[in-house]
Amino acid sequence: MMWDRLGPPLGPATPQPPLAMPDLRAHRAGNTGVPYVWRFEGKAEGPHVAVVALMHGNEPCGAVALDRLLRRGLRPTRGTWTLAFANTDAAAGGRLFGPAGTPARYLDQDMNRLWAGARASGPPPGHTHGREQARVAALAPLILTADLLLDLHSMQVPSPALTLCGRSPQGRALAVRLADPGWVVADDGHADGRRLIDHPRFCGPGAEATAILMECGQHASPAAGAQAWRGLIRFLALSETLDAATVRTLLGEINAPALPPRPTVVDVTHAIQAQTDEFAFVRPFQGLERIATAGTLLALDGKQAIHTPYDDCVLVMPTRSARRGQTTVRLGRVL
Ligand SMILES: [Zn+2]
Repeated sequence: MMWDRLGPPLGPATPQPPLAMPDLRAHRAGNTGVPYVWRFEGKAEGPHVAVVALMHGNEPCGAVALDRLLRRGLRPTRGTWTLAFANTDAAAGGRLFGPAGTPARYLDQDMNRLWAGARASGPPPGHTHGREQARVAALAPLILTADLLLDLHSMQVPSPALTLCGRSPQGRALAVRLADPGWVVADDGHADGRRLIDHPRFCGPGAEATAILMECGQHASPAAGAQAWRGLIRFLALSETLDAATVRTLLGEINAPALPPRPTVVDVTHAIQAQTDEFAFVRPFQGLERIATAGTLLALDGKQAIHTPYDDCVLVMPTRSARRGQTTVRLGRVL
C-alpha cells in the first residue's frame, strides 16, 4: 500500500442527522452597533478574546458553537469576549429577510481572502465594493483589536479536524497547547488573498496578538459541531477568561478529557494551485494521508502530472473540485 492514514478512524458507526445551520435571528441585534457581533466584559482585567464563526457561510459548526455559548448565557470572568457571526448574508443564502436560501460560502468574494488591507479602524484601503468587503470593514475595528482570536471553520472533505496556525510562532504554540484538534498545520495561507489569521496583527515581525483557525471536520458532519464546541471551551480555558469550574463542568458534560494528548504538527512545504480547470486527484483523498514514497502520482492538472516531492509527504485539505488559480491541496512533513 502506497499510503496510509495517520488520523483516527473517521465517522460514527451509527448515522446521525447532518449538522444544520442554527436559527441565528435571536443574535441579530448584537450589542456592538454591528449586527451579529456581541461583546461581553468580565469583572477583572484580562485579554481581549475574539471568536469568529461563519467566515464562510456554508460552515455551520462555528455558528452552532457560538449559538450555544450565547444561549447558555456564558460570560467571561476576566477580560473581554467579542463573538462574531461573520458572513451571515451568505449563511442565509443572500436572503436575510424572508425565507433563507441555501447557505453559500460567499456572495461576492471569499471573506477569508480579504484581510490584507483590513485595518482596525475604517474600511480597508481600496476595498469598498462587494458585500464581503463591506462586512470586513465593519468587523475589522471589533476583531482586529483582539489579543487572542479563534476562527471556526469546516472542510469540504471528511478529513480529521486540524488547527491552522499560519507561520506565526505564537499561533503554533497556542495550537499545540490547545491540542484539540490533535493536528496542527503550519502553512503560508493562500496566493489569492490574505486570511484573517495572516493579518499583520497576528502574523509576521512585531505581531502583538495570536490567532488560529480551527477546521473542525466536514461541513455537515455532527462531529464538526462537537469539535467546534469542545475547541471553543478549551480555547476560552487557555485564555483564562472563563473560570476553571465552568470549564470543568462544560468538558464534563461532553465527556471530554481535561488534557488532550500532544498533537501532531505538520509543516506545509508546498501549496498546489490548479493551473487548469481540469485538476483531478487520482483517488479520493480525504486529507492527512501520508504518502510513503517520493514521486507518487497525486493528481493530473490538465496534462501535467503532480507527484509527491519527498517521502512521507502528508496531504492537507485536498479540495473536491478546484478551478484554475485555487489551492487544491497542501503538502507537508510531520515535525
Ligand atoms: Zn472555511
